[in-house]
Amino acid sequence: MQAMSPAATSRQARNWQDQANCLGVDPDLFFPERGASTREAKEVCRGCVVREDCLEYALANGEKFGIWGGLSERERRRIRRARAMARRQATAG
Ligand code: SF4
Repeated sequence: MQAMSPAATSRQARNWQDQANCLGVDPDLFFPERGASTREAKEVCRGCVVREDCLEYALANGEKFGIWGGLSERERRRIRRARAMARRQATAG
């Protein structure tokens, strides 16, 4: 199966994708080979009005690959860790 852009992948689940800046953009841009540049994809995301929705979707669904909401896997992992830590601190207090 050919790779789809983040917006197209989750099309059935949500409808914020209709406003996605990446519609019609080469999906490979959002799933770069290891070590390849993510700059172009992030540029597309920068001007996207549904960036927050996209990022939250990826975080909620544990998307491990690709650029979502303008962030790489590593950047999303950092957010997930920070949120998990904040939750632990909130419940520990
Ligand atoms: S934030 Fe980026 S990947 Fe997500 S819908 Fe917008 S352009 Fe596509």
